[in-house]
Amino acid sequence: MKTVKFAPYKRKQYWNEPQLTLWESAYLPEILRGLFITSRIFLRNMAKWMTGRKGALTTYYPEETRWDYAERNRGKHVLTQRPDGKPQCVACNMCATVCPAKVIEIEAGFDPADSAHPKFPIRFEIDYSRCVFCGLCVEACPEDAIRMAKETPGLPAEDRHQMWLTMDEMLSWKPQSDVAKPYPPAPRTGGGK
Ligand code: SF4
Ligand code: SF4
Repeated sequence: MKTVKFAPYKRKQYWNEPQLTLWESAYLPEILRGLFITSRIFLRNMAKWMTGRKGALTTYYPEETRWDYAERNRGKHVLTQRPDGKPQCVACNMCATVCPAKVIEIEAGFDPADSAHPKFPIRFEIDYSRCVFCGLCVEACPEDAIRMAKETPGLPAEDRHQMWLTMDEMLSWKPQSDVAKPYPPAPRTGGGK
């Protein structure tokens, strides 16, 4: 009878996979080391708290609502406006189409009297409970009508149904950095001087 020999199974190694030492592979020492680190930080924070100093990096929300945002934070959406205060948006739906999370909902209106911008949004809402803050909507907009502003106050909510960002909020809320220079025109690329 013919016997079939299988090659010994060799587990694939990935380039970024950490190589464990014998000590780390023993499992128990690493568990004890983790417990030691957790206990040390816990006791240090307790000691600071008992002597009236701030220990853990905890923000007591909503009592404390200000903190430094990360440098790469994109922030909250705002809708830019024309000089007459109407939204710059022409309800073309490109932002809603490109949005990977499908969280932008737009209802378009039509005003034949406004020959320059006959189409405009009646309803423009973003569901922040599902937005992934990728910024693709800003990139896709042909009118520079939607931007993301760095300061992001009041973003968390206790109920996901309260996380719909309305058009009124996007039109009225101005970030601190934009108060002094409201919505400068976007730089145009190409063309002569
Ligand atoms: S930031 Fe990304 S996920 Fe959020 S509304 Fe824009 S395209 Fe959608
Ligand atoms: S925000 Fe820009 S991309 Fe989105 S519907 Fe308005 S004009 Fe179109």
